[in-house]
Amino acid sequence: MNAPLSPREDAAEILAALGVSRSAGPGMPARSAIDGSVLAQVAAADHDGTEAVIAAAQAAFVRWRVVPAPRRGEAVRRIGEAVRQHKDLLARLITLEVGKIPSEAAGEVQEWIDLCDFAVGESRRLHGLTIASERPGHRLMEQWHPLGPVSVITAFNFPVAVWAWNAMLALVCGDSVVWKPSEKANLCALAAQRIALQVLADFPEAPPGLLGLVCGNGAVGAQVAADPRVALVSATGSVRMGRAVAQVVAGRLGRSLLELGGNNALVVTASADLDLAVRAIVFAAAGTCGQRCTTLRRLIVHRSIVDGVCARLVSVFARLRIGDPRAPGIMVGPLIDAAAASAMDAALDAARADGHAVLCGGHLRDTVPADPSRPAGGAWVAPAIVHCTRQTDIVRQETFAPILYVCGYTDFTEAVALANDVPQGLSAAICTTDAREAERFLAADGSDCGIVNVNMGTSGAEIGGAFGGEKQTGGGRESGSDSWKAYMRRTTNTVNFSDQLPLAQGVDFG
Ligand code: NAD
Repeated sequence: MNAPLSPREDAAEILAALGVSRSAGPGMPARSAIDGSVLAQVAAADHDGTEAVIAAAQAAFVRWRVVPAPRRGEAVRRIGEAVRQHKDLLARLITLEVGKIPSEAAGEVQEWIDLCDFAVGESRRLHGLTIASERPGHRLMEQWHPLGPVSVITAFNFPVAVWAWNAMLALVCGDSVVWKPSEKANLCALAAQRIALQVLADFPEAPPGLLGLVCGNGAVGAQVAADPRVALVSATGSVRMGRAVAQVVAGRLGRSLLELGGNNALVVTASADLDLAVRAIVFAAAGTCGQRCTTLRRLIVHRSIVDGVCARLVSVFARLRIGDPRAPGIMVGPLIDAAAASAMDAALDAARADGHAVLCGGHLRDTVPADPSRPAGGAWVAPAIVHCTRQTDIVRQETFAPILYVCGYTDFTEAVALANDVPQGLSAAICTTDAREAERFLAADGSDCGIVNVNMGTSGAEIGGAFGGEKQTGGGRESGSDSWKAYMRRTTNTVNFSDQLPLAQGVDFG
């Protein structure tokens, strides 16, 4: 049997097939999470380069906003076709660069495809209301118009899908886009951008500059966020980043859409179907090596069953295969880099210091040389389970690694309070067969999150719903439902078709 290609060789093959240069210029090395090797050199945008991309996006917006929306939808439909053709290559690149297992990487590209289909439909439904006017001979209505250039700042863990959620909707809404991808996932960005630009190059109404890309670190993102030409800053990442972006954008009275960290809880009640609950918990907690914003981080279990649930989870976690995600049967790939593994170490140390019991998991650094399925240079960790006495500070923080904190509860009100007792508000779930408990969890005084599920995990949302969360998660909504409204401006129009001039509220002005 042939030895598997190194990530570097693998990337060379994929990038050649996608037509992406491996030495696009001086600036930033693009690394593989699998072994830390440099896959390519990516040109970093400087201040003037970023300025030029924003200027081009502004010029493109002026032309694109008057293209009829269904025609804009046709451009997105064609992008969706191109993504279908390149799905496998792009998914392989996601696996190489950020370490997702192939099935999850393919799922991420599928989100782009699904979003294209959704956005095409929306392109014929960007409608406002007709409202009853209080004045005779008057018509009151709303229109939705294109907003302006939209900047999309993305995190490393969904290196394609989050841009696609934003960009495909922005395109049908008549906006141009400036993408600032994560500095840890530039290759995925270059590849996705190239697929879309090849389609737009053959689309007569698409002006140059419609989809812009600026690779760089946080300073490049900050420049884009500060620019008054950027009508909407859609930023996905840590709470720290979101706080910085929110202040800059608010300072110029711009519009921001924030998708920030989560600290997601699942309540397991005494009546839960435990076989189903364990399956839901394992995918939500260990999938993507704990690097989803919706990853399950806290498990709140009825005290009568908490020890049994912990024992079952420890036994399943022990069987998770961890290693090079390209190898068959691997379920957990690497963390993105060594700093992420150090953050996991530090969190587990803090948990021990708080008196919590670390039941399993942690950094696999010592075993790497002995295990050929885990190349040196990757940040290999085993998903951890920590049985907590209470929710201390470390439990209430988001550590972007697979650590599942388990707390017991006695009564249902206490379970809801524990679930909500964190600064973040992204997703939550409950496993129960009691309809009253399920409904109470979904009710106004139940979970305070933006995404709340029953009898499933906290992760793996569909694109048809609005995605996002409350509190420090930032309040933004992306993807499905009526999220498109964030990318447009609403005008309220009153048309007088009478020969009188009645004033609203009965005001008489002589
Ligand atoms: P990060 O905050 O380190 O970086 C995210 C992006 O922000 C990067 O492109 C980075 O260059 C940019 N950035 C950093 N500082 C900036 C600044 N001052 N101004 C403008 N841009 C700046 O996040 P990460 O480590 O890449 O991703 C992990 C985090 O993202 C986790 O907290 C996770 O929960 C969150 N996340 C949230 C969602 C969601 O939809 N809520 C989705 C994915 C990830």
